[in-house]
Parts: sequence; C-alpha cells; structure tokens
Amino acid sequence: MGIEKPTVKYTQIFINNEFRNSVSGKTFASINPTNGEKICDVQEGDAADIDVAVKAAREAFKLGSPWRTMDASQRGRLLYKLADLMERDLDYLSRLETLDNGKPIVAAKFEIEAAITLVRYYAGYADKIHGKTIPMDGNFFAFTRIEPVGVCGQIIPWNYPLPMMIWKIAPALCCGNTVVLKPAEQTPLTALYCATLIKEAGFPAGVFNCVPGYGPTAGAALVRHPDVDKIAFTGSTEVGKLVQSEAGNSNLKRVTLELGGKSPIVIFNDADLDLAAGIAHESVFTNMGQCCCAATRTFVQEDIYDAFVAKSRELAAARVVGDPFDEKTINGPQVDETQFNKILNLIESGKSEGAKVEFGGERVGDKGYFVRPTVFSGVTDEMRIAKEEIFGPVQQILKFKTMEEVIERANKTAYGLGAGVVTKDFDKAMTFMQGVQSGTVWINTYDSQFGPQVPFGGYKMSGVGRENGEDGLHGYCEIKTVIAAIPQKNS
Ligand code: ADP
Repeated sequence: MGIEKPTVKYTQIFINNEFRNSVSGKTFASINPTNGEKICDVQEGDAADIDVAVKAAREAFKLGSPWRTMDASQRGRLLYKLADLMERDLDYLSRLETLDNGKPIVAAKFEIEAAITLVRYYAGYADKIHGKTIPMDGNFFAFTRIEPVGVCGQIIPWNYPLPMMIWKIAPALCCGNTVVLKPAEQTPLTALYCATLIKEAGFPAGVFNCVPGYGPTAGAALVRHPDVDKIAFTGSTEVGKLVQSEAGNSNLKRVTLELGGKSPIVIFNDADLDLAAGIAHESVFTNMGQCCCAATRTFVQEDIYDAFVAKSRELAAARVVGDPFDEKTINGPQVDETQFNKILNLIESGKSEGAKVEFGGERVGDKGYFVRPTVFSGVTDEMRIAKEEIFGPVQQILKFKTMEEVIERANKTAYGLGAGVVTKDFDKAMTFMQGVQSGTVWINTYDSQFGPQVPFGGYKMSGVGRENGEDGLHGYCEIKTVIAAIPQKNS
C-alpha cells in the first residue's frame, strides 16, 4: 500500500515572517509529475515582490537590528532549533517533497535527513568563524575580522528542492547574512513549509524571505537588484552565465554558481565487475538522472566492455519504476513535461546517431513523466548523448584503451563537476585523480557519498566557488582588514 499524500498548507510568498499574496495578484500552478495534474496554485512573485523582500532583508541586516546584535552562538542555537523542527516534521516534509517533485519517498526522506545534518554542521560553525592577527611590517597591530556579506539572493533548482534550499540558507544564516530565496517554479512547496519552521525556530522577521515565481521574472529581478550583495545560484550553465553577467552589470554583487556537468566515470579492467557496474549504475540513475554531477559518460576498458554492458543492462532492468509514494519504487517520474520531452528527444538522437539501446529507450505508461531507465552501448565522443547534459535516466557506455587516452577524453568537455574511477590499483586511481579536471573525484564510490564537511563545486563551466564544508562559508563572508598604529615609547 502506498503512503498517504500530504495536504498542502502554504502557497503564499513569505516576507518578514508573514505570508502574503503577490503584488500582481497572479498565481501559478504546481504540477504533480506523477500524473500531470495540478496540485495547487501558488502566489507568483515577480520584480515587485522581490523588491519588498529585499527591503525586508535589508532592514533585518541593519546595524543595531535584533539579527546584527545577536550573539554568534545564539545564531547557532537557532539553526540547531531549525534542525530539530525539520526532524519533527520529517515525515510531512518528505511526503510534500515527493508530491511536488516526484522523487521516491524513501529517497526524499534520506535526502532531507542529510539536509538536517548539514544544518547542524553549520549551526556548530556560527561562533567559530574568526580572523587572524597578522605580523605586518612596522609598528602596527593588524587583524582581520570576518563579516557577513549582507543581503543574499539565493536561486535554487527543482532536483533536490529542500536540500538545495538548506545548502544555501544554512551557511548564509550561520555567518549572519539575511536571505531572499527564489525556489524553482516546479517545486516551491517544501521551501514555503520550511519558511514556517524558520519562523518557529525564532529567527527575527526579515532574516529569511521566500519568493516563489519564474526565473526570467522573479529570479532575474533578484539578480539585478541593486540592493542585493550576493547571489548564490544553482541551475543550468546557460542561466549561470546570464546570472554572472547581470550581477556584474548591476552592482558587481558577489556570485557563486553551481552549474551543469557531463561527468565521466572510468572503469579499469582490474575492477570487480559487479562492484563497478553497481557504482556506475547508481552514479547515473540516482534521482532519475536529475543530478548535476550524474556520471553520464561511463568509460570502460576494452577487455571488460561486453561483460560490463551486460551487467549494466541487468541493473537497469531491475530498477523499479512506479508510484513514488510506494516504498518499493526506485525510479519516479521526471520533474516536468519539458524535461521529459528533452530526455526523450536526446534518446532519439542517440538511436539515430548509431548508439545501441541495450535497455529502455522509451517512456513508461501514458500518464505522468516516467522514462524507462535507458542504457546505450557503442557510444562515441561526438554523439549528442555523449556531449550534452541529459538530466535523465540515460547511461552512455564508451570504450577506452589507455590511461592517457581516457584522461584526455574525460576532460574533453566544457564541464568539470564530478568524476569517478573504479579500480583496485591505487596508482591508477591517483593518476586519474590528478589528471581529471573536476571539482570532486570519487574513487571506488560515487555521489551517494556526500557530506556536509566536504566542499562541493565545479571546475570550468560547472561553477564558481564551493558549497559545504569550511570552504562553503567563504562565499558568505567579507574580510575586513584592520590596521592600528601602536603608539611609540617616546611619543
Ligand atoms: P533547469 O533548466 O534545470 O530548470 P534553470 O537554470 O532554468 O535550470 O533553473 C534553475 C533556477 O534558476 C530556477 O529557480 C529558475 O527559476 C531560475 N532561473 C531561470 N532563469 C533565470 C534567469 N534568467 N534569472 C534568474 N534565475 C533564473
């Protein structure tokens, strides 16, 4: 039996710890990807609402405000409280995420638990962010003071709605910033519910604000706003480029970007075949392939290629596709019709360019946005499926001969987010690790192994800056250098 569907409680814009309707009076529909039907109408924010939210965030950031005078340790306690409240409502949050996004309920719960751990990680950091004393030349006392950047605009995608929100707000609030968050138009519901938990935890009004709406309207207004000090964006590389140039054209606001990928995973012929096929399978099919670091190029050394393809076919066939509210389901639907059509189109391009469909290659059923897990063999570097980000459950298996060749081919992309290598040979793993241009390299594992303690981000066109870990704090801080003259003995 499936799990009970949640009742949607909040659909309005959240500013100054209160819900309100959009200035324009407009709403947009949030669609259930399992059946294509409307879940509810959500208030549609645009430039006017963003302006109200930014004003609230600026007011909350003023010197002397409750937020600016709060002890750093107290900021940490509020974050701990938020984590406790998320844990209290874990069941509801998971069901709401599954309803809005379509991800299987077991995965939703696992991801939100990981997000709660991340809130606690940054809660502990709040009163441990400090500068240095520096022995500069001359008779001076020099030190640095780490200060919050100010009003942070945060724009997030739909693939991990609540975790992406937490990745953004936890470090920002930990450092003492204020936030205007724009969730993805496909999946605004858990962010709006979480807003009520932020209020309940005791964060002062205006510290966190959430404006649902579309990218080119609400998102672009946030990026251009002259009173926003920093933009943190996760989404496509195409929009990331726009965000960076718009942010520069307005007030040179600070920008961190977490963008797309076309990540390679390399299987050497000494690898345990079952282990390697399993890691490669999860690295691409997790979250229905809707993962920026999905390893969509599986490079397999030539002598084990055929055996590896056979195992990959079996694994894809065993993946249970169905109702995300059923705990047995591993693959739910894709998030929306646009993504669904894009994936089917790329699958067709793979077929017409000569790759062999080993499994899948089609939709499942005639309702909702389900795609059958698909495995392509005989893929070459020039095919669209080997070059373009698919963001769907589609594995490309390519053949290679040597280390030198595979490093060169792995790097032959504008992206550089994730990479994987599976081998029993430490030297091979280290050689590949050093050669690959990628923000993260997984060895004998892949992206299920995340942790709040380790930085995540991209080389090349996969991003700017890092999230998580101590490095994740840098994007939310300014460094103030203070130089004081020390009076001379005789003066
Ligand atoms: P995807 O193609 O995966 O939906 P996008 O980059 O389009 O990724 O979207 C990621 C986030 O960026 C969403 O919240 C979306 O609304 C927002 N967005 C899209 N276009 C813009 C834009 N021009 N300016 C600011 N934000 C945008």
